Amino acid sequence: MLDHAMRILKDVFGYDAFRGNQAAIIERVAAGGDALVLMPTGGGKSLCFQVPALMREGLAVVVSPLIALMDDQVATLDELGVAAVALNSTLGPDEQREIADRIRRGQIKMLYLAPERLVQPRMLSFLQGLDIALFAIDEAHCVSQWGHDFRPEYLQLGQLAELFPHVPRIALTATADKRTREEIVQRLHLDNAERFLSSFDRPNIFYRIQPKDQPRKQLLNFLAARKGDAGIVYCLSRKKVEEVADFLSNQGFPALPYHAGLPNELRAFNQKRFLNEEGLIMVATIAFGMGIDKPNVRFVCHLDLPKSLEAYYQETGRAGRDGLPADAWMAYGLQDVIFLKQMLNNSEGDERHKRIEQHKLDAMLALCEETRCRRQALLAYFDEELPNPCGHCDNCIDGVETWDATEPARQALSAVYRSGQRYGVGHLVDILLGRDNEKIRAAGHQHLAVFGVGKGFSEVEWRTLFRQLVARGLADVDLDGFGGLRLSETCRPLLRGEVSLQLRREPKPAQAAKASSSAASQLVRGHEREMWEALRSLRRKLAEEHSVPPYVIFPDATLLEMLRSQPSSLSEMAEVSGVGARKLERYGQAFLEVLNGSGADDTPAPVADLRHELVSLARAGMTPAQIAGQLNCSEKNVYSLLAEAIAQQQLSLEQALDLPEELLGEIQEAFLDGEGELPAVSEIAPLFAGRVDEAVLYCVRAALQAEFEI
Ligand code: ADP
Ligand code: ZN
Repeated sequence: MLDHAMRILKDVFGYDAFRGNQAAIIERVAAGGDALVLMPTGGGKSLCFQVPALMREGLAVVVSPLIALMDDQVATLDELGVAAVALNSTLGPDEQREIADRIRRGQIKMLYLAPERLVQPRMLSFLQGLDIALFAIDEAHCVSQWGHDFRPEYLQLGQLAELFPHVPRIALTATADKRTREEIVQRLHLDNAERFLSSFDRPNIFYRIQPKDQPRKQLLNFLAARKGDAGIVYCLSRKKVEEVADFLSNQGFPALPYHAGLPNELRAFNQKRFLNEEGLIMVATIAFGMGIDKPNVRFVCHLDLPKSLEAYYQETGRAGRDGLPADAWMAYGLQDVIFLKQMLNNSEGDERHKRIEQHKLDAMLALCEETRCRRQALLAYFDEELPNPCGHCDNCIDGVETWDATEPARQALSAVYRSGQRYGVGHLVDILLGRDNEKIRAAGHQHLAVFGVGKGFSEVEWRTLFRQLVARGLADVDLDGFGGLRLSETCRPLLRGEVSLQLRREPKPAQAAKASSSAASQLVRGHEREMWEALRSLRRKLAEEHSVPPYVIFPDATLLEMLRSQPSSLSEMAEVSGVGARKLERYGQAFLEVLNGSGADDTPAPVADLRHELVSLARAGMTPAQIAGQLNCSEKNVYSLLAEAIAQQQLSLEQALDLPEELLGEIQEAFLDGEGELPAVSEIAPLFAGRVDEAVLYCVRAALQAEFEI
């Protein structure tokens, strides 16, 4: 079974090995069992149902919530030579009828559907009349009422269990928490599903969180080393989205805005450009993201604080789906905290709900002020233990200094208390620094005992301290809307001198900037630049010709491997990860020409080379007809070379030909019928006249011969 799966992995997808749990999941589903798959974004969920779909007889039905996602997957499968279609509301009745006909004739292997369409009685009875390979339920967390992606139509998918008791079902999600998991099992009736939990770590993402100082300048600093990369910049408000997009464009970083207030067409247009072009930056509110499968998003920036770690993880997770180095970068400041707390307080909902949201925000803030490894802290929140610091986040790389802030913290809290718990940070800092201004005088604060006690620190240092006090919940933001600070219950032990307080020391801005450029995820080195651009430009051209996004032609990882391994023949090209049979046939030559800097060499290869080439192509999954086209020789020639290679055990019969099992059995029996020597092909050929080409018989005979010689 795994052999079969490996063959499909190599032939169709062009990959050499399964990742993580993929093999186990595929084995389970291919054998007809149910599965629940929890795997982070970029983990490779699609293969978990696409490979078993190709292993099993019949139509595979994939449920997906978004048209964009479906179209992307269908385009990708199409490029791989797998017959897939998406049925959605954009199709007219004629097109739909035609698709239904093709399905009935068994010409389609994978059908993508929105849940509401699948559960229509007509659709269900249509499917009941067919042979179904499996049901895959993607983004299965949409069934959970607690999550923010809840889709009521998902609730009806439970009936598949009863209507199709013998069809395996696989539910997949990148949402980690236990509650969602249990809800999926219960609502989708997946009690017998085997559960496959992967680590939710995204090792290729580098995390950095900086105090907000001059956010635009900081952002430019970060982007400076990433020119030409695609990325997302998240902002909280629509207005800010527009401003930042303008700002970046003016600074020479092509950027587009995206938020719910834009006209639908413009939003769709910007999204499409982001997917189809390279090196664009999308400046967006959180309305942007779900359904964005673009694998080569190289960075995700936050100019405003997300409201929970769940949101932070999900948003940053859109970077680096392709497994190549990517960055998650955030600048955060006191104003963010105040803003989010106020928003939370003014939101609808009961007290309990608000308390939960408050806890979530606190966890987010704790990550910002974290002094240990960010990744360890982030994963710990999702109940996953990373035994060692990761070595791939700002805290691990730069190191974090902490200092004893007990005394200054007391002074700061005392300033809050003595001034009546209603002033904002600006005024409180003025008190501590002993600034003699109008507002101070008007309030008589120059007489406070804490007036001027803090001259040993700068304004920035005091502001940082206040931010940290709020982030740690030692001071609260007054929620009436003016941003005044109050003491919270939890600060009492500190005020009474019962506990001490260690805080992270902020790196000097210059230091931070240096660190951020040294951690830059530069994929391509200087001298490779030119070739890289040439490969990308060929990819862009092919993508336009085929009306698909560039990454559907080849992902960056594949181009990068071409760049590094410099294949010089089609057989070497076939070894590159991500180059399956179909793509080798379609694009192999064109990319070789770019890599070798010239037109193709048309002189025929000597026979020995030809054989070598042919064996590689067959191993890569090409059919004899494809090989003939590729090597520019007759199909007959290819068959006789294949037969030779099989006889010499350079190839297995399965690698050379794709014969239905029954037919193969019949041919083998015909050869093995008599006693002694294997009969010649001409002796048994009449039995298969009109059904099987003689060339095929030669290959089967060669395989039997090879077997007997062992
Ligand atoms: P997910 O749906 O879990 O976010 P995808 O299925 O989109 O992830 O896979 C992410 C990327 O990893 C895709 O480009 C995919 O082709 C690639 N990939 C998946 N499995 C493998 C594998 N076994 N070997 C190499 N690349 C893989
Ligand atoms: Zn770390």
